[in-house]
Amino acid sequence: MRDESTPKHTSNLNRRHAVVVGAGIGGLLAGRVLAGHFGRVTILERDAFPHDAAGRKGVPQGRHLHSLVTRGGEILERYFPGLDAELAAAGCPALDQAWDARTDTPAGRLPRFRSGIAMRAVSRSLLEERLRDRLEEEPNIRFREGHEVVGLVTGTGGSAVVGVRRRRRGPTEAERLSLPTSWWMRVGRVRAPRWLGELGYDAPEEEVVDARLGYATRWFKVPEDFSGEWKGWPYCRAGWKTPGAARSAGSRATCGRPA
Ligand SMILES: Cc1cc2nc3c(=O)[nH]c(=O)nc-3n(C[C@H](O)[C@H](O)[C@H](O)COP(=O)(O)OP(=O)(O)OC[C@H]3O[C@@H](n4cnc5c(N)ncnc54)[C@H](O)[C@@H]3O)c2cc1C
Repeated sequence: MRDESTPKHTSNLNRRHAVVVGAGIGGLLAGRVLAGHFGRVTILERDAFPHDAAGRKGVPQGRHLHSLVTRGGEILERYFPGLDAELAAAGCPALDQAWDARTDTPAGRLPRFRSGIAMRAVSRSLLEERLRDRLEEEPNIRFREGHEVVGLVTGTGGSAVVGVRRRRRGPTEAERLSLPTSWWMRVGRVRAPRWLGELGYDAPEEEVVDARLGYATRWFKVPEDFSGEWKGWPYCRAGWKTPGAARSAGSRATCGRPA
C-alpha cells in the first residue's frame, strides 16, 4: 500500500532505505508511512517480540488497559484499514466515556450522557501485535527484534548521518548497520539527544510539561451478577502523596475480556 502524500523535507532524499528505531506505536506508524516513500524500511527494536499479546520490557504498561482515543483510532484506521473491526472481534469494547464510564471525582460522580464519541479499550500489547502483523505483510518492511541502537554513524566530514550502530541484545559487540544512501529515522523515547551530543552537535532543546498525574489499572474478574450498566470506572482522587509527588491520581477499570 502506498501513501500519496510526500513530506516536503524528504523530497530531495534518495529514498532507498529508511531505518526506524523502536517498534512502539510511534515506530510502527512511522514504518507504515515510510514504506510508502522508501524502497526498504528496517525497524529495529531492542526487545524480542512477544506472542499472544504478552508484555515486554520496553513497554512495561503494555498489558494494562489503554484507551485508543477517537482521533488516534481514525488515524490508525486510515493506515491499517479494518483494524477497528479486528480489535472489536478480539473482544476490545468500544466506550462512550460519558455514558459507559462511571467516573468518580473528588467533586462527586460525573453526570452520565451519550456523547457520541467512542473510543476502543485495548491493551497496548494486542494493538502492537496487530500492527506488527499487518506490517509483516508489507514486502519492503523488515523487523529486526533484539537489536538495540547504541549510536549514530556519520559519513565523511561528519555532516550527515549515514547509519546507526546497533548491538544484538546479549554479549555480542556493537556492529554497524550501514545505510549506503539516505535514511530516515524515527526515535521514540530513545537516546537521540545523547547520540547527537557524541557527534559534537548541540542536543535539541527539550521542554518538559509534567502533568503530575499518576494512575493504576488492574484486571478484575467480572462477577456473575454484574448488572452491566457500565463498562469503565475511572476513580480520581486529588492530593495523593505518591513518589514523584503526583498531584492527582486515580485508577480505572473496564469490563471486557483481557485483550
Ligand atoms: C501507564 C501508561 C498508560 C498509558 N495509557 C495510554 C492510553 O490509554 N492511551 C494512549 O493513547 N496512550 C497511553 N499512554 C501513552 C503511550 O503509551 C505513549 O504515548 C506511547 O507509548 C508512545 O509511543 P512511542 O512509540 O513513541 O514510544 P514507546 O512506547 O516508548 O516505544 C519506544 C520503543 O523503542 C524501543 N527502544 C527504545 N530505545 C531503543 C534503542 N536504543 N534501540 C532499539 N529500540 C529501542 C522500546 O523498546 C520501545 O519498543 C500510556 C502510557 C503509560 C506509561
